[in-house]
This record gives sequence, structure tokens and C-alpha cells, in this order.
Amino acid sequence: MKQPTQLNLSPATRAAQALHFVNPVHGAVVPGIEPASTFARDGDYQPIGNAVYARDGGPTVDHAEAILANLEGAATSMLFTSGMSAIVALFETLEAGDHVTCPIVGYHGTINWLHRLVEKRGIKATFYDATQDGALAEAITPATKIVWVETPTNPNWDVTDIAAAVELAHAVGAKLAVDCTVTPPCTTQALSLGADIVFHSATKYMNGHSDITGGVLSFAQNSPFVDEIRGLRTLQGTVMAAFEAWLLIRGLRTLYLRFERASESALTIAQHFEGHPKLAAVLYPGLPSHPGHAIAARQMTNGFGGMMSLIARSRAAAQHVATHTQVFIPATSLGGVESLIEHRIAVEGPHSVVKPELLRLSIGIESVSDLIADLEQALDSAP
Ligand SMILES: *Cc1c(COP(=O)(O)O)cnc(C)c1O
Repeated sequence: MKQPTQLNLSPATRAAQALHFVNPVHGAVVPGIEPASTFARDGDYQPIGNAVYARDGGPTVDHAEAILANLEGAATSMLFTSGMSAIVALFETLEAGDHVTCPIVGYHGTINWLHRLVEKRGIKATFYDATQDGALAEAITPATKIVWVETPTNPNWDVTDIAAAVELAHAVGAKLAVDCTVTPPCTTQALSLGADIVFHSATKYMNGHSDITGGVLSFAQNSPFVDEIRGLRTLQGTVMAAFEAWLLIRGLRTLYLRFERASESALTIAQHFEGHPKLAAVLYPGLPSHPGHAIAARQMTNGFGGMMSLIARSRAAAQHVATHTQVFIPATSLGGVESLIEHRIAVEGPHSVVKPELLRLSIGIESVSDLIADLEQALDSAP
């Protein structure tokens, strides 16, 4: 599609228009879905378009990836069936003896996968405390190939300084990969801060409607490493399917609007409940009391997002609140238009290092007064 080249369009505009999409044949302003598993060749036996077979990708996935690369400022974005299949492909590039770093408290799926690679494949991993200054620097070794950081980390929302992590990684020739699921490109562009790879679970803010799973890896530069991951995606059969890519394109059109609303409401809720007698703490990077606030204020340039945690006075109180909300839906996941509450330790299971009193909230786009009233009534009856 011909892009408006004279104007320096803001990313919100590019997202809303799915890169100024108009179907060149009939003018439809919304792309179609191309579910074909195989694609015909021309008279010279060359592929007619970019696609050959759907396990490599196809036109609908290409369009979604073009939007993501555009918003992220990436050379290439690659979509997967889930966040985890993207993470699996990335770490599959490691060889026995290679070393990675990962935060101790972070997304449990990533941590569990790395533990498996350590046990079964001879990969070395150091899990560092993202709340301690200097811990990441200490964790990095000359054998480190991927420095994996997550910011803000789930579910305490500790903030890692991406630009500082880039310097540490590059000093040993490692790649800096950032899980930015909670801080999408409308507020943090990790590649422009120097990261080599940015990861999102597209299940979350990118799609925003809790109706697909997906993952995306975006790369600052094309390289044989990027080609290797694309090859792995084909061999593992983990490319996003056309219907999911189509829903993702639809979701991305409202990313900026949804994120702005979620950020505004989350800040209001965090301010409202900070110091609440039934709570020990409110963890939200947008609050000046949060230890990562100063970095977050620098790095999350357009809102602190919709993720926060409430620390109740006891495990029983947390359980009570998680089961007594009437607006917040008691479910895992995040970044959707509907607000969710979860008693995180119950979801992560017995190996979880999350505080038993912790309630994780994903703030959606509902009326903020309804959300506040709902939490108030659930806390009111808590022990
Ligand atoms: C959900 C999530 C993932 C995993 O993504 P899936 O789409 O569930 O596979 C990874 N990192 C973070 C921070 C997440 O929230």
C-alpha cells in the first residue's frame, strides 16, 4: 500500500490505519484473511507473491508483522503461535556451554523453560535479582550469549534500565533481549534504546481483546541469527495462523487508545488505594513510592501501563478479594479491554516465589469509578 511519505505520521496514526491499508483491487479499508495453506507459482515456476507454504507464513501474517516492525522501529518482526513459542525459538539458538541471564522473579514460563534447557541441554543460566543494583552486571559472563531482561517484571513490576542493560550485554558481545509485554511500543521502544531483540506476548496488549494467543520477536537488524530463528519457526511449525494475525491487525488499530486509557485508569487506581488500611502496599511503577519509578518515568514515555499488584494483609485476605470482585474478572493473563484480578501464587503453583498476599490486577478500559468501587467493596468484606 502506498504510504503517505510527505507526513511524519505518529505511530498512533500508523497503527489506527494498519499502515494506511486500502485493498488495491477493490478498495476495502480492512484487509481480508488469507487462510490458504499453499500458494501457486507463475509460468516461470516462481512464487507469485512472497508465500509458498503457510508453515513459513503468508500474506495476513506478513501484514501484521509489517505493522509491528513499523511501530517497533524494527528491521524484522516475526509472529509466533504464542509468546512461549517465540521464547522457545529464541533460546533454541543456544548451544551447550552458552550462558544466559534471566530475572529470578519474572514470567514463570520463561523461567521454567530455561530451567529445562539447563537440565537437559547443557545451557548455563544465571537468575539475577532485578531489584538489586549491580546484580545483572554480576550475572553476565564472557560466555553470555543472551541477556534476557523483563521490564517491568511480572508481578512486582520491578523496572530494569534497558539502555544500561544494553551496555552490559554488548561489553561481552551478548545480545540484549527485552520482554516488553507489559510496556508495548506506544510507551517503550526498546530497540531505539539499543536492545537487539524485543519480545512481546501478543496475547496481551498488542491484541488486547483476550481472543488470540501470539508472540512476536522484533529485531533491530537483519542477520544470519534472525534467519536462523525464522528457520526454526518453520521447522517447529509455530508461525501464527492467518485468522489470529487478522484479529491481531484489528486489535493493533486501537493499541494506542487502549493503552492510554489503561494507563490513566491504573494510575488513578494506584493513587486511590495507596495507603488503604486493608492493604500493605500498592506496587505500580507510576507511583513515586515505587523503587523503579525514576527509571520507569524515563523509559515509559507515554504511560506506565495497566499492570499493578496489591499486597493484602494476609493470604486469606488476598484470596477473599480475588473471589469477591463483581467487575474485575478472576482470571489470569493481562492487557485486555476487561479488567482481571488474580491471586498470582495460586496460578503459578507450589514453586512460585511470589508473595502469597499478592493480587495482580490488569486494568482494562472500563469506567475507572466502577473498578475502584468494586475493589473497595471486595476489600471492605475482607478479613
Ligand atoms: C504472557 C506472557 C508471556 C508468555 O506469552 P504467551 O502468549 O502466554 O505464551 C511471556 N512474558 C510475559 C511478561 C507474559 O505476560
